[in-house]
Amino acid sequence: MSDHSFEYWSSMAETLDHEGRAFIDGQFCPAAQSATFDCISPIDGKVLAKVAHCDQADVDRTVTIARERFEQGVWSGLPPAKRKGILLKFAALVEQEAETLAITETLDMGKPIAHALSVDVSATVRAIQWTAEAIDKLYDEIAPTGQDELGLVTREPVGIVAAIVPWNFPMIMAAWKIAPALAMGNSVILKPSEKSPLTALRMAALAKQAGIPDGVFNVLPGFGHTTGKALALHDDVDTLVFTGSTAVARQLMVYAGESNMKRVWTEAGGKSPNVVFADAPDLDMAAEAAAEAICFNQGEVCTAGSRLLVEDAIADVFMDKVRAAVARWKPGHPLDPATTVGAIVDEAQLNRILSYIDKGQKEGAQLRVGGERVRPVEGGYFVTPTVFEGVDADMSIAREEIFGPVLSVIRFKDEAQALALANDSIYGLAAAVWTRDLSRAHRFARGLRAGSVWVNQYDGGDMTAPFGGYKQSGNGRDKSLHAFDKYSELKATWIKL
Ligand code: NAD
Repeated sequence: MSDHSFEYWSSMAETLDHEGRAFIDGQFCPAAQSATFDCISPIDGKVLAKVAHCDQADVDRTVTIARERFEQGVWSGLPPAKRKGILLKFAALVEQEAETLAITETLDMGKPIAHALSVDVSATVRAIQWTAEAIDKLYDEIAPTGQDELGLVTREPVGIVAAIVPWNFPMIMAAWKIAPALAMGNSVILKPSEKSPLTALRMAALAKQAGIPDGVFNVLPGFGHTTGKALALHDDVDTLVFTGSTAVARQLMVYAGESNMKRVWTEAGGKSPNVVFADAPDLDMAAEAAAEAICFNQGEVCTAGSRLLVEDAIADVFMDKVRAAVARWKPGHPLDPATTVGAIVDEAQLNRILSYIDKGQKEGAQLRVGGERVRPVEGGYFVTPTVFEGVDADMSIAREEIFGPVLSVIRFKDEAQALALANDSIYGLAAAVWTRDLSRAHRFARGLRAGSVWVNQYDGGDMTAPFGGYKQSGNGRDKSLHAFDKYSELKATWIKL
């Protein structure tokens, strides 16, 4: 929780002057056609800033500059230890501006200030630091040849990386991509979500201050079907990295096929199962974790534990605990440091969540907790965390990603049924299993078709663990040393001696 009061954050919000211009070649500038869009705070529906809406001309100009800088070697040609030093300075500047960045994130996308500070800013700093620290410790390979040859396997930057990110963790999602992309020596163009563009623009200024050369890191705000599409179709973008919905991820693969076959790496949607066996070590802890897994960040989390699978034998007792735990997560003013549930990112997302709550009831599930729009702040978009029980695996609330605080509870009889239910999804991002039985924990974890598996906890891991999805949750991995694979090409050089 933040040390500051609601009054402190509210008065700070009044004094902020948000930068809304694009950041190209080390300068803030309006979009080529001077187009803008309104950046609206979901807390009260008011306009926070006018933000540049970049179009094809901005994308063309930025890609040309980014390519020039790449070829000149102003960044790509620096020794890794030099890039590390500059990136560490970048991380330190982000840390210094923690409060401004946190409040900007809260105002822009509605999350509680306490979480913006303790999760978003700190994870962003850690991601940049960890990646920077790693880059001068990566060795290339020498192939096991005979005496008369030398085989070198070297990693090289891919060139121009376009990163398109979503609105739920704007800074973290950006940092997971721009940090390894920059560390590897690439030129980077970041397109933040139109729903949360402000912290990316502030980070651009800090990157420049840290010493990242002009034109090496650029930020182009705009919409998906305009700015994002222009980047994805551009013939001189080498790699496109994306976090967002599965529908858009598919579209990006089409754009790559229609243009230059750029590499496309996607972190997409999820419908993650949280599986609680009767022998879970601590049912109170499991219930608290199940509530947090769907309420944290208003349920707007790709790895949200949105399907709770509970063994019949404990279901009645356990669900009493889960209902009580979820009811403690109450929407409040996001600038109040005691608030745990903030605003939903915008009206469209709120309506999407409400429509699923309606659908769940029509399909015959029992609405046991929440399910209503509330207004802790006039004009804002808030919904109470919601629990549906008696959910059937075929219902849309059990199959589709809602991206809001709506939990679907399904009961199971035995391990085989639990595993079948857990894997019965087009997604495979994450899963959790609660059991005291070590053999079952391993067996179940191995059977799960998911990129992250947690045992007796939800959402564990740090920068050392790769993060990404099986199936339609995407391809490739963020975080850990594996992330560098997305930002490098492997070259084999064979020398006759
Ligand atoms: P989204 O797919 O609507 O948008 C993501 C980004 O893509 C935005 O910047 C948007 O402007 C851009 N975009 C949209 N259409 C585009 C197009 N045609 N061409 C190019 N760019 C386009 O997703 P969202 O609503 O911002 O975020 C929610 C989704 O993100 C959820 O599905 C969630 O699961 C997913 N997500 C996944 C992860 C993960 O790591 N797997 C993490 C966070 C969020």
